[in-house]
Amino acid sequence: MTATLPDEHPHWRQDAACRAGTPEAWFPSQGLALDAKAICMGCPVRRACGLYAIDLNIGFGVWAAFDVRFERAPLVAWLANGSAVA
Ligand code: SF4
Repeated sequence: MTATLPDEHPHWRQDAACRAGTPEAWFPSQGLALDAKAICMGCPVRRACGLYAIDLNIGFGVWAAFDVRFERAPLVAWLANGSAVA
């Protein structure tokens, strides 16, 4: 999948819900990162975050509520299926 960051969120990191969290929660060495994923689910820039992870082929961490180590394909499918504009 070729993804492109949406023009409507050029500075998406500024609105990231995880800015107030503990970064380690999004980069777990073990566990399911459920707390981080729950925050992602309400993040206003979730889609831009997921596109960023795919564009840069990031291989570690939780992005857009998906742990890309294990959930890359579901993230790509979510983006391709017209995920919410956020
Ligand atoms: S969706 Fe992305 S930007 Fe938003 S809280 Fe989750 S990791 Fe952070």
